[in-house]
Amino acid sequence: MKKEFVVIGLGRFGGSIVRELIEQDADVMAIDKDTERVDEYASIATQAVVADTTDEAVLRSLGIRNFEHVIVAIGENIQASILTTLMLKEIGVKKITVKAQNDYHAKVLSKIGADQVVHPERDMGIRIAHNMLSNNVLDYLELSDEHSIAEIQANDKLAGRTLIGLDIRAKYGINIVAIKRDGEILVSPQADMEIELRDVLIIIGSDADINRFEKKVL
Ligand code: ADP
Repeated sequence: MKKEFVVIGLGRFGGSIVRELIEQDADVMAIDKDTERVDEYASIATQAVVADTTDEAVLRSLGIRNFEHVIVAIGENIQASILTTLMLKEIGVKKITVKAQNDYHAKVLSKIGADQVVHPERDMGIRIAHNMLSNNVLDYLELSDEHSIAEIQANDKLAGRTLIGLDIRAKYGINIVAIKRDGEILVSPQADMEIELRDVLIIIGSDADINRFEKKVL
């Protein structure tokens, strides 16, 4: 059976979620209060509906309760985003993901029961900044306030060395969880494995430790 989602708010963020879900063969009900935006998605989404989702009666009439996962991608209108989340919670939606505009917004969303709060602009900003500081940092993903996962392109200092020889865990407190090589992912690499220049290392650790590693080694 196909997975069924609802996406509320068809701006750039919500819109790209709709397109990708459809591309991945899911069913999507796309909702926006703006008719033009809805028209744009009429031929893309499984169903495209004009509705103001801050109105509980409207949400109920659309049968949103029956969908497994709803994402609230309402951008600048924080009040509408919070009210919509509250209504979804009240009608008993199982899983709610919400895009936050800022940290205060995120805090409120968590308090009223959003299952997942995402900060796409902030997270993308962090990734790009790390990539600007070092071209070898391909990606940077925050796990918590203090810990992250980074994807690192191997360089001359790393190539030809074994994991045990580098002793990254003892020296920097970070772990290499996987190595990407030739399109394959080698999970939990052995200590005697030799790093190659084209390898991408996936490392996990505290932000402070990763930053130290970036400065010293990359
Ligand atoms: P982005 O930053 O992702 O481009 P936007 O702020 O442009 O986000 O888009 C948010 C969308 O959410 C807009 O298309 C807007 O019409 C829609 N929206 C805002 N409030 C409501 C609401 N109460 N009900 C339904 N859709 C809404």
